[in-house]
Amino acid sequence: MYKYKRLVIKLGTSTLTAGTSYISQDILFDLASQINTLCKNNCEVVIVSSGAMASGREALSFPKLPKDIPAKQMLSAIGQPRLMAIYTKLFAQYNQIVSQVLLTRQDITERRSYLNSRNTILALLKQKVIPIINENDAVATEEIKVGDNDNLSALVSNLIDADLLLILTDQPGLYTSDPNINPNATLVKEITEPNIPEELWQSAGKPSDDLGTGGMITKLQAADLARRSGTTVIIAKGNTKNNIIRAAQNESIGTLFRPTHSTLEGRKRFILSDRDTKKIIQIDNGAITALKNGSSLLPVGIISIQGSFERGDTVKLIDQHNLEIALGLTNYSTTELNKISGKQSVDIESLLGYNYGEEVIHKDQLVMI
Ligand code: GLU
Repeated sequence: MYKYKRLVIKLGTSTLTAGTSYISQDILFDLASQINTLCKNNCEVVIVSSGAMASGREALSFPKLPKDIPAKQMLSAIGQPRLMAIYTKLFAQYNQIVSQVLLTRQDITERRSYLNSRNTILALLKQKVIPIINENDAVATEEIKVGDNDNLSALVSNLIDADLLLILTDQPGLYTSDPNINPNATLVKEITEPNIPEELWQSAGKPSDDLGTGGMITKLQAADLARRSGTTVIIAKGNTKNNIIRAAQNESIGTLFRPTHSTLEGRKRFILSDRDTKKIIQIDNGAITALKNGSSLLPVGIISIQGSFERGDTVKLIDQHNLEIALGLTNYSTTELNKISGKQSVDIESLLGYNYGEEVIHKDQLVMI
C-alpha cells in the first residue's frame, strides 16, 4: 500500500504557522494524524521540524530583537522545548512516542560522529519511536551549522538511507519560473535527468531568511543532495489534504525528483573516498570468507592493527599477505580493538565495560575492494 518504507518528512516554519506568526495546532494535528497512519502501517518516519524560533518568538510575545545569531539562538533555546511539547501531546493521542534529536553539521558529516547519529536514529526507529530532528541552533556556530532545515533533512536522509524525503512547504512544488512574477509559470511534475536543469536553479531565486526558512533554493539544494545518495525527493504543499499519505502511496503530488544513484552506491562512494587511509586492520581467512558471504567483521577474525584510529573512521582491511580486501567504518577505536581483537563478540561487554554492538565493522558499512 505504501511505496516508501523509510521517510524523512521536513516540516518548515511556513507550513507549521500557515504563514502566520503562530504555530498552528490544527495543522500539526492533521500532519500528526497522517504520520501516525504511516507509522501504524509499518513505515518508519523521521520528522525534521523547524519552528523553534517561531515558537520562541511567540513565547516572548514577539519582541523586537537584533537579527544577530545570539538572538536567534536564544529564540530557538526557548522555542524548541515548547515545540516538542506540542508534538509530544499530539502524538500521545495515538500512543505514539516521539523523541528529540538536535544535530549540527558535524554530527552528520564528520565520520567520527556520523555513526553515533545514525545509530541513535536507527535505534529509535527500531523501537517505533518517531525521531523529531532540528538543528541544534542553540550551540551551532557558523562553522558547524547546516543553516537551514531543507539541507539538514537531505543530510538526515543520507544518514539513515531514507527512501523518500518529503519536503512540505507553502508552495505546491517547484515552478518553471517564479509564479509570483510570471503568470505562465507551470508546476514541474518530475525531474528525472541526472542534473537539475540550470533554468530551475535560476527560477528558485535567492534564499529568504526571516525565521530561518530558506525559500525554494535550499529545497532544490536539498533535493539535489538527497537524490544523489539514493533518496526520492518530493517537494509539495504541506496543508493540502492527505499529501503525506498520498506521497507515501506514490500518488503524483508536487514535484518529484528521481534518485540518481542507489543508496548503496551513495554509501559506497562515501566509504571509498577514504581509499588511501593508513588505518589498517589485518584479518584472517575465516573473516575474509565471512565478508565475501556478506557478513560483518567480528573481533574474532582480527589478527593485527596498524595506525591509530577512532570509532567511525574508515579503515582498510587487509589479508595475511597485505592484500587489500575491503574498506569500512569501524565501530571500535584502536584502544578498544587492542582489548577485543581475536576475542568472541559476547566478551566485548566484559572486556570494555560497554559495547557498540557485536560487529567491528557492520556489513552495511563495508565495501569489498
Ligand atoms: N532551526 C530553525 C527553527 O527551528 C529553522 C531553520 C529552517 O527552517 O530552515 O526555527
